[in-house]
Amino acid sequence: MTKSIVVVGGSLAGLMHGLQLKREGNNVTILEREPVSERSSHAAGIGYKAGVEEILRKYDDTGLKTCFTTENLHFAYRRWPNAYKAKLKYQLTSWGLLYRVLRANFDGLVSNACPSPPPPRATDGQAAYLTGKQVHDITYSDDTMEVHFTDTSSGKADSITADLVIGADGVHSTVREIVKATATKQYSGYVSWRGTVTEKELTESTARYFTNGLAFDVMSRSYMICYVIPTDDGCFDPGERLINWVWYYNVAEGSPEMKELMTASDGRMRSMTVPQGLVSLPVWEKVRATNTPRMATPFAELLNKTSQTFVTKVNDVLCTTACYFGGRVILVGDAMATFRPHVALSTEQAAQQCIWMGDVTRGSSTMQEWERHVSIFAKRIYLLSRLVGEFGQGSVFSFLRSVFSYLSFMVRLKFKLKL
Ligand SMILES: Cc1cc2nc3c(=O)[nH]c(=O)nc-3n(C[C@H](O)[C@H](O)[C@H](O)COP(=O)(O)OP(=O)(O)OC[C@H]3O[C@@H](n4cnc5c(N)ncnc54)[C@H](O)[C@@H]3O)c2cc1C
Repeated sequence: MTKSIVVVGGSLAGLMHGLQLKREGNNVTILEREPVSERSSHAAGIGYKAGVEEILRKYDDTGLKTCFTTENLHFAYRRWPNAYKAKLKYQLTSWGLLYRVLRANFDGLVSNACPSPPPPRATDGQAAYLTGKQVHDITYSDDTMEVHFTDTSSGKADSITADLVIGADGVHSTVREIVKATATKQYSGYVSWRGTVTEKELTESTARYFTNGLAFDVMSRSYMICYVIPTDDGCFDPGERLINWVWYYNVAEGSPEMKELMTASDGRMRSMTVPQGLVSLPVWEKVRATNTPRMATPFAELLNKTSQTFVTKVNDVLCTTACYFGGRVILVGDAMATFRPHVALSTEQAAQQCIWMGDVTRGSSTMQEWERHVSIFAKRIYLLSRLVGEFGQGSVFSFLRSVFSYLSFMVRLKFKLKL
């Protein structure tokens, strides 16, 4: 039976769910508070895994290349650029390209990345992506559920009925507040600085260093990761492609330094992210100048050549339950669990939630089983991402504590004990 489904939040988790449900013949409306469709990545690279590949293989009709594939990891140690090499497969892309490919398939968004979106499949339901719609409430009775939102440009209130509501509205989820979900939320103790440099702006040796796989520079309680990504417009050409970097940097909550970092150039303090173009230049210059002498040369060159950075506090969030209102409201993606980014498994979480949801809609699984899979995955990766984060950024004590938490969860899982 065709269902009316409302997805709150039109980023990667919302779009993956929206696309799958539309392909299964449901009518899907995505409500997104951002006012425009042509959204920028803000230079955010995304490493993704098998689940996202599976979603694209099943539902993407654009035929576009979506990522670089690499199996090479190379590690620098402080100023020594070639300390260790390893192998692990990663798909590397930009948030903006993945978003545009998913939009082209979901509602036919025309973009430079996809100027001729594919037509809908014969079995598709209807799809609408409404921008500038901020959801603030969900009401329900036995037979109707209504999602209430405000149009951010006119201020007008409106609502839409739904059989199922999917909360894909990220780390500060409103849907999570509405359903009064029990969630653990914690600041990790560090921020991520991020940026990109176009390959042609780098010296030849530095460009070669970074286009040959994922590169890490491990420093004292800090590390940086860099990799090549396509542009938001889907350009993979040597020279034009981007080298994306993320640098984890310890800052105590409430410290004068945190206050300084999170105060944007417009003078306003940001709670979570200071976006590109608004980072205070003197602050960034001070951080950069103090730290680049401790980095291996290619990493220092990358930071020195980045014209615009942005800074985000790294938080972790974990909900104990994904289903609410008798399974008629569910939480997915970062709204359900926000992992520390070290393990690059956030989009994988959203993809796996879709894949397990497909089993439910095909009748080979139940909502209870979906909830169990989702909750176990969320807790396991939450603990793993904390372990990796504490290894890079924490003290010996905080690292050992995170190893113990992870291992004790895995033992309880293996022996089917209470989780
Ligand atoms: C430093 C860093 C590096 C990362 N690297 C990786 C990586 O390599 N690999 C990976 O898989 N992930 C990575 N991530 C995480 C990744 O960016 C997210 O998991 C991904 O964007 C999908 O998140 P989401 O769709 O669940 O939520 P979000 O991307 O946060 O999207 C939520 C959406 O909901 C909208 N919204 C919020 N509230 C409302 C409301 N009330 N009404 C309507 N709309 C609303 C927002 O505007 C937004 O579009 C990284 C994150 C960080 C911070």
